Amino acid sequence: MVRRGTGETVNPSIRYPKLLSPLDVGTTTLKNRVIMGSIHTGLEDRARDTGRLAEYFAERARGGVALIITGGYAPNRTGWLLPFGAKLTNRLEARRHRRITDAVHREGGKIALQILHAGRYSYQPFSVSASSIKAPINPFRPRRLTSRGVRWQIRNFVRCARLAQSAGYDGVEIMGGEGYFINQFLSERTNRRRDEWGGSPENRRRIAVEIAREIRAAVGKDFLVIFRLSMADLVEGGQSWGDIVALAQDLESVGVDAINTDIGWHESRVPTIVTSVPRGAFADITGKLEKHVGIPVAASNRINMPDMAENILSRGDAQLISMARPMLADPFWVRKAEADAADSINTCIACNQACLDHAFVHKTVSCLVNPRAGREVELQLLPARKTKKVAVVGGGPAGLSAALESARRGHAVSLFEARDQLGGQFGIAQRIPGKEEFSETIRYFTTALRQADVAVHLGHKVTAAELLAGGFDDVVLATGVVPRMPSIPGIDHPSVLSYAQLVEEGKPVGDRVAVIGAGGIGIDISEFLTTDASPTLDLKEWKQEWGVTEPEAAPGALTTPVPARSPREVYLLQRKKGRIGAGLAKTTGWVHRAALKAKGVHELTGVNYERIDDDGLHITFGERRENPRTLDVDTIVVCAGQESVRDLVDQLTESGTPTHVIGGADVAAELDAKRAIEQGTRLAASI
Ligand code: FAD
Ligand code: NAP
Ligand code: SF4
Repeated sequence: MVRRGTGETVNPSIRYPKLLSPLDVGTTTLKNRVIMGSIHTGLEDRARDTGRLAEYFAERARGGVALIITGGYAPNRTGWLLPFGAKLTNRLEARRHRRITDAVHREGGKIALQILHAGRYSYQPFSVSASSIKAPINPFRPRRLTSRGVRWQIRNFVRCARLAQSAGYDGVEIMGGEGYFINQFLSERTNRRRDEWGGSPENRRRIAVEIAREIRAAVGKDFLVIFRLSMADLVEGGQSWGDIVALAQDLESVGVDAINTDIGWHESRVPTIVTSVPRGAFADITGKLEKHVGIPVAASNRINMPDMAENILSRGDAQLISMARPMLADPFWVRKAEADAADSINTCIACNQACLDHAFVHKTVSCLVNPRAGREVELQLLPARKTKKVAVVGGGPAGLSAALESARRGHAVSLFEARDQLGGQFGIAQRIPGKEEFSETIRYFTTALRQADVAVHLGHKVTAAELLAGGFDDVVLATGVVPRMPSIPGIDHPSVLSYAQLVEEGKPVGDRVAVIGAGGIGIDISEFLTTDASPTLDLKEWKQEWGVTEPEAAPGALTTPVPARSPREVYLLQRKKGRIGAGLAKTTGWVHRAALKAKGVHELTGVNYERIDDDGLHITFGERRENPRTLDVDTIVVCAGQESVRDLVDQLTESGTPTHVIGGADVAAELDAKRAIEQGTRLAASI
């Protein structure tokens, strides 16, 4: 054992010695370096969901995380994220939180409440901010606070911290980043004041320092006070690096115990957490701050596996790792790291589909790879009362989840997959540049199926006769989908490929390509075609592409983007008139649309596909089939949706064998892996 000055204990004989070593933060000892970062689940907003929230946190505490930070609670109504959203303003509300803090403490965990004032991001007409400047992502213009109003806000932050302490929390995190209220005071972009709260860097940071100082005075020394600080605003007019360092030092001097970090504002046009952002992309910036303060700094954003976390800690870029989504994906992340079983971790693939995309449409947050997240109470996978012999046909996301969870409940499960590898359509998705993380889900299921003793038969296209002869009690048909080939004259021309032939079979493709269909897959395929075969997710290239520079080089760490050139000319077509990509999700759609634009993809809408021949793809526009045009392309890739594979359904159901159809085999329209995995899991819970 090696002892360091900070009370840090490192055991070099274990696989992740830094990650799993305790750390003194203020007067509190954290048992390891993993913080579950704040993510708003939606369960915070309604008193009736307190029990569900308590169980959700308790499961993460059981999973070994050292400190949990709750979703954000507003210190008053002006700070609400949404009307009637989560707030902590009185004793009655504080009493309810006892259920949460007790549940976490019973499991040996620690929990801090995040105080989040949304400022001009508050989605309501009574929002307030440093200046009356509307956010580009919110229709409501905030009211400029008077100086007295600022003092009142500070007192509300302090009241919130006191109430959190009375509710049994181990500390608070003050949200000072992501473009929320405090960040709006810190940045010239949103703070045009000339009084004591603006005009100079010292004045702009006064509110943050006062909040921290007064909270510390109110709660005493034995209560964690953490400040969430923006490492780079990634917006025009963002804070300079000097301002950020000075703020961190001031916060330390007024008694803040640790700094948690984040990157970018919600309105910034640089992606910071989506799957195409390289892992650990911003940890080096945290490392720069680490050298300027004596208190622990936590790295965050796109850290999802123990190796990466250990690396960041051993490089000295941070003393703590903050992960929010990875804890949704796998509550037992820390326990698995402790057992040196990283390959058993259900990795967060940064898709946002069931977490942040749910939050934006006011649905309770869950997780694509772990549908139990946020549903710990209602979606239980208890041991089966009667052990059954179950066949699962199809090793795509639906079949994988059904097979795994059925086996975990005690059933004897055989999984049949026609391909030589697991994953189904998700196996195609993982080959799209920027979706490499998807391979982690297939790795997780592969390992977990082995551990759960599922008999996996690869390269076995099972027939109805085999299934009937197998004596199975239940058969699950998860046979998925195949690409739809629309009936366009000339669709059998040699220049035409399905997306599966292009990506999976690696069929050759020319320099000029038309993509028929601009849904999620058409857009992914356009990115595939416009990205060079060179290694993707290279951090340097990624920063160039999105215009991210060193924080010292420019306020907000922004520079001119220099996207890599596309190796091909690509036309992306759809029959609908509207904007391409309009149906994509809120948190990721804009990233895809920006990427297509940067690569110069030609977008054509309102198209009629007339025919395909040696001259290329013949199209017209609109209902009256006007403006005929021939796209002189070498290759046409079809991404026109999918059709269900249901060839086994009739025979199986007619035989009387209990047969369940899930995933794409059930319904192909609007299918995604979120629905497929959830359907598989729910079915397994009921067999
Ligand atoms: P499938 O994935 O189609 O799996 C069915 C499996 O059954 C196949 O492996 C097939 O070989 C097997 N099978 C069929 N018949 C038999 C038989 N008789 N015997 C044995 N095996 C059989 N979804 C998202 O949620 N997010 C994304 O970002 C995303 N990106 C995508 C990008 C691309 C390029 C593609 C192609 C898909 C993407 N998807 C995405 C969609 C997602 O992959 C599918 O929704 C999901 O795979 C459907 O799962 P499934 O299990 O129902 O079917
Ligand atoms: P999709 O989103 O339904 O898009 C299919 C496209 O094909 C549409 O642009 C449609 O638009 C066109 N089309 C449909 N029928 C056609 C026909 N007969 N002839 C010509 N064009 C036709 O489906 P997808 O792109 O295949 O994706 C499948 C699923 O995977 C989606 O539901 C999606 O959720 C999921 N996915 C998700 C992501 C993600 O990032 N979350 C990424 C990829 C895939 P027009 O009719 O206007 O031409
Ligand atoms: Fe991660 Fe996607 Fe799950 Fe969100 S939904 S936690 S991004 S895997």
